[in-house]
Amino acid sequence: MSSTIGTHLLEVLYDLYPDLKNRIWSKKIRDPFKLLVITVLSQVTSYRNLMLAVENLERSIGISPEKLARAPLEDIERAIRPAGLYRQRARKIKSISRIVLEKYGGDLSFIKNLDVEHARKMLLSLPGVGEKTADVVLLFSFGKEVMPVDTHIRRISRRLGLVDEKSSYGEIRRTLERIFPPDALAFAHVALIEFGRSICRARKPLCGSCPLGKFCPKIGVSDQKLDHASHGEFIHHSSISRR
Ligand code: SF4
Repeated sequence: MSSTIGTHLLEVLYDLYPDLKNRIWSKKIRDPFKLLVITVLSQVTSYRNLMLAVENLERSIGISPEKLARAPLEDIERAIRPAGLYRQRARKIKSISRIVLEKYGGDLSFIKNLDVEHARKMLLSLPGVGEKTADVVLLFSFGKEVMPVDTHIRRISRRLGLVDEKSSYGEIRRTLERIFPPDALAFAHVALIEFGRSICRARKPLCGSCPLGKFCPKIGVSDQKLDHASHGEFIHHSSISRR
C-alpha cells in the first residue's frame, strides 16, 4: 500500500480541518482510566449526550477506579443515563473500575511501558473493552502508534478502495498505520471521523463536491446513495471544520 495515498489524504484533511490539530491536543485526555470510561460511554451516542453523561458522572461520583468501584450501581446508572444503554454501561464501568483497582492498584500508567501488543491485550481483557476502545486509549493516553478504527473510518477506507468489504478491524487498522506517518495518526483519526460525518456520510455521501472525488473509486457507493444536490456544490472549508 503506497504512502502516497496517505500523503494525499492528509493534505486534503489538513485543508478541510485546519484547526483540528490544535483542538485534538488541547482536548487530549492523559488519564487513561478516564478516557476508557468516556470511550465506553461514547459508543452510539451523540457528542452532546456523551458530554452530559460525563459531566454528571464527574460531578456526582467522580471518574476514578476507587470512586466508581465504591459507588452504588444505581448512582452510576442515574449519572450516565443521557448516554443511553445506561444499565449495561453502568455494569461495565463498575466491573472495569473493580478490576483496575484490585488487579492494577487503580493505576493504569504502567501500560506506557508495555509494547503495543501487550498493552492492547491487557486492555482487551477488561469487560466491555473492544478493539476500538483499546486503541483510542493507546493512541490518545499513551501516544502509541496505532489507528483506532470506528464505523466512519471503516466506511471511508472501503469506499476509497484501501481495504475490501471483508477486511477485519485489524486489517483496516494495519493498512491505515502503513499509509499515515506515525505522528499524523491522531489527527488522521479525528479528521476522518469528521469527514465521515460531514462529507463521506453513510447515507448520501457528497461525492459531487468531495475534494477526493477525482481520485476516489467510490467502491460500494451506488447512484441512489449519492446526494445529487451536492454535485458542483462548493463546500466551504471553514464551515465544515466548525460542524
Ligand atoms: S468521493 Fe464520495 S465515496 Fe469517495 S471519499 Fe468522497 S464522499 Fe466518500
